Amino acid sequence: MKQIVHKQREFFLTNTTKDIDFRIEQLKKLERILKENDALLNEAIYADFKKSSFDTYTNELSILYHDIREACKNVKKWSVVKKVKTNLINFPAKSYVMPEPLGVALIIGAWNYPYQLSLAPAIAAIAAGNTVVLKPSELPLNTSHAMAKLINENFEPHFFKVLEGGIAETTELLNQKFDKIFFTGSVPVGKIVYQAAAKNLTPVTLELGGKSPAFFTENCNLKIAVKRMIWAKYLNAGQTCIAPDYVFVHKTIKDDFLKIAKEEIEKSNFSFVNDNYVQIINEKNMLRLIGLIDEEKVYLGGSYTLEERFIAPTLMTNISFEDKVMQEEIFGPILPVLEYEDLDKAIAQVKARPKPLSCYVFTKEKQVKEKILHEISFGSGAINDAMMQITNSNMPFGGVGESGTGAYHGEDGFKAFTHYKSILEKPTWLEPGLKYYPHTKRKLGWIKFMFGGK
Ligand code: NAD
Repeated sequence: MKQIVHKQREFFLTNTTKDIDFRIEQLKKLERILKENDALLNEAIYADFKKSSFDTYTNELSILYHDIREACKNVKKWSVVKKVKTNLINFPAKSYVMPEPLGVALIIGAWNYPYQLSLAPAIAAIAAGNTVVLKPSELPLNTSHAMAKLINENFEPHFFKVLEGGIAETTELLNQKFDKIFFTGSVPVGKIVYQAAAKNLTPVTLELGGKSPAFFTENCNLKIAVKRMIWAKYLNAGQTCIAPDYVFVHKTIKDDFLKIAKEEIEKSNFSFVNDNYVQIINEKNMLRLIGLIDEEKVYLGGSYTLEERFIAPTLMTNISFEDKVMQEEIFGPILPVLEYEDLDKAIAQVKARPKPLSCYVFTKEKQVKEKILHEISFGSGAINDAMMQITNSNMPFGGVGESGTGAYHGEDGFKAFTHYKSILEKPTWLEPGLKYYPHTKRKLGWIKFMFGGK
């Protein structure tokens, strides 16, 4: 590992990655490799957790192709040296901001969208002119092997290298000195990564998780709201960082909510046979999730088969913040339904907990929407929809507080791997003497005048 990081830094210092054409060439090469190996990528992810080719394309590969196209189209524009106004005290001079790559980037991926969450940050890092060491999650072993094979057979290790492994390997990697660490994963491991980065003052982006609420107000288009929420909750069997973790439903619509949610789940026919569902990633998570199901509170579902790593889409009702299912991020196909009467109290309960990664509001009431947006701090969200905000790369994607630090997607991805170097450039034909000794009252008067003070 030390050797690879050393070689990458040596290569970075040759300035090769600073060439925009080099970056575009590498991104196009990555796109070609992914497309040529579509079958391999699909087989690997299906073997890991029965993810269908529909889902693999729509929520993994298409995002990568979009990111590559967007980066190739815009990287020149994003890299332009930007002139800014010069302040009076520096006259005559010009001022500009120069984007420059940070250097050697470490990317640590999560397992739930293994291709997207490993390669989207890598695309941003390459577009910004960095070299990349990628450590995908070890849980989906086949996708980890597939990425290692494709990247390591096609890219020079001094530029882009996949290193596979689990906790031991990641710990060793974190002992190396990187110029940027981009981590996607859980809050506890995020803290480990942050501490390791602090030893070298390495900048980090932490894309973490948490419990994301969805509000259903008295006055919402319940049918369409529930349809959108059910899709978001059970996509990838609930193993999505920005999925609604729990719902807050107004007391007056709770019965209708449950009835429509049940119908919608039944209509969606979540099963492995029709490729509408995926497996829970491993037995450890199966057992954790089963432990969150309180049979007495199950409204729908609750059944599972351990060998198949299947948990039926589950709705739980009469839930409060004291229930076990409300003590941790669920990250699976279990939806606790909490009832509220007083919106202020519901908002206060969310605010008393760590800032969520996402929050969704289903309502027709402008005031309610504005109140929630104004009062609750969260990473990203949607009004009358759930999760689709992530598809708009014109907006930064990231968390806040415990749900993460920093953001990416689109130009924000480029920014995450870039330092913006500020330069003041002065000619030598004029040398105002105000700052030089002797410091007189007259000079101070002029300086105060320039600063607008007395
Ligand atoms: P995780 O934290 O267990 O693992 C993430 C990565 O860290 C893996 O590559 C793993 O090998 C490594 N790792 C695990 N334990 C480690 C340790 N002790 N020391 C060093 N490295 C270690 O997370 P996960 O289970 O892969 O993913 C689920 C979590 O990620 C959820 O909390 C979810 O909300 C979050 N997530 C966030 C986003 C986002 O974009 N914000 C996206 C997906 C998942």
